[in-house]
Amino acid sequence: MREMLILGGGTAGTIMANKLASRLDAKDWRITVVDGTEEHYYQPGFLFVPFGTYRLSDILKPRRKFLPGRVNFVLSGIDRIDAEKKLVLLAGGEKLRYDCLIVATGTDIHPEQIEGMADEEWGRSKFDFYTPKGAERLGQFLKDWQGGKLVVSIAEMPIKCPVAPLEFLFLADEYFTKRGIRDKVDLHLVTPLSGAFTKATCNRVLSSFLERKGITVTPDFDIARVESQEKKIVAWDETEVSYDLLVSVPTNMGDPCIGRSGLGNELNFVPADKHTLKADGIEDMFVLGDASNLPTSKAGSVAHFQSEILTENILEHIEGRPVTAQFDGHANCFIESGFGKGLLIDFNYETEPLEGEFPIPWIGPFKLLGESVVNHWGKMGFRWIYWNLLLRGVRLPMKAEMSMTGKRNAKHVTA
Ligand SMILES: Cc1cc2nc3c(=O)[nH]c(=O)nc-3n(C[C@H](O)[C@H](O)[C@H](O)COP(=O)(O)OP(=O)(O)OC[C@H]3O[C@@H](n4cnc5c(N)ncnc54)[C@H](O)[C@@H]3O)c2cc1C
Repeated sequence: MREMLILGGGTAGTIMANKLASRLDAKDWRITVVDGTEEHYYQPGFLFVPFGTYRLSDILKPRRKFLPGRVNFVLSGIDRIDAEKKLVLLAGGEKLRYDCLIVATGTDIHPEQIEGMADEEWGRSKFDFYTPKGAERLGQFLKDWQGGKLVVSIAEMPIKCPVAPLEFLFLADEYFTKRGIRDKVDLHLVTPLSGAFTKATCNRVLSSFLERKGITVTPDFDIARVESQEKKIVAWDETEVSYDLLVSVPTNMGDPCIGRSGLGNELNFVPADKHTLKADGIEDMFVLGDASNLPTSKAGSVAHFQSEILTENILEHIEGRPVTAQFDGHANCFIESGFGKGLLIDFNYETEPLEGEFPIPWIGPFKLLGESVVNHWGKMGFRWIYWNLLLRGVRLPMKAEMSMTGKRNAKHVTA
């Protein structure tokens, strides 16, 4: 029996287990998924928890429910990978042998990486919304908050879902307007980027939204520390921004097991070939989803597109053939813009978000790089697609490679 071992049973690991279960012969291959928890959260839903749109129970399901019957699920922490011996050591000391390894351990926030962030005020005047606990605590706090200066602070890039901090501000604008206290709330974005977003075309559009909604942006701010008693964040150049309520997107890092294995970069992300998804210089190891250092967005949509490429490459690899499928960096992302509307962006390594329609060129129903009610419903409907189609590895009506058909402004805005 040959061993296909998948580390992490989140978005990427679950999709891959489903895809491989239908392609690998059960007589030859055992597929094992290892994860440290039983609970699978629909992470895009964390955005809506602070505003009371979802409760945590609305976005939580048991992990095992999404793994096919033939897949062996191991509930355990992962201590480290011994790539030379092709072994994975589990937290309890058990060892798992592999013939082919897929690392899908994702990324998590690390407030302790910023001086003064993770002190006794964490969860009182400083919050996150990237974890279940953080999103829930922030929601409880916001219910009774009567206004002041709300600062959303991005520590450093990369972060998962880089549009989520902007969406948070757009939804906060709507939430406080509906509560009748928008005039008492100052909304700010403080970012290390030189604009609101990493991609120039999208940055222009999103900046105009921020301006229209009266949200102030402080760009080029590299946070060095938080002074909780004075309620201010301080950059390395000693620039300061004060706050009454800090919503932080702390440093995102790969899992510590990657660091312990000596396989990661300084943020514990695994260096991998951006097209084939093979781990750099390591035999029989591939990286999928947020765990890698690839220069694309850390997003569920990316894990989905990558999984189609990786399935083909793994089938070639285990037959001893060179891998030929190439990931183009394709990402797409709904962006909630508040008051029942949203945007959709579609891009890859080479091409900036462009105007057009998605998934069917000229028809849609979704509008690219423009605001619409249908886009908002696309975002809200995605939760159903996630649980029922995406995780189960069902083919969706869109290709892994980004299509240029029907896209507009291509001549002036390619990167
Ligand atoms: C607020 C927010 C909003 C988002 N919005 C969107 C969106 O609108 N669209 C979109 O496409 N994406 C969005 N995302 C991003 C998306 O959720 C992630 O990119 C996606 O889940 C990545 O999948 P993954 O499998 O790589 O990581 P994960 O789904 O995080 O899975 C990693 C798994 O590995 C396990 N693991 C890690 N280390 C260990 C260990 N040492 N031992 C045992 N198990 C371990 C974890 O328990 C986890 O289950 C959002 C994320 C957040 C936080």
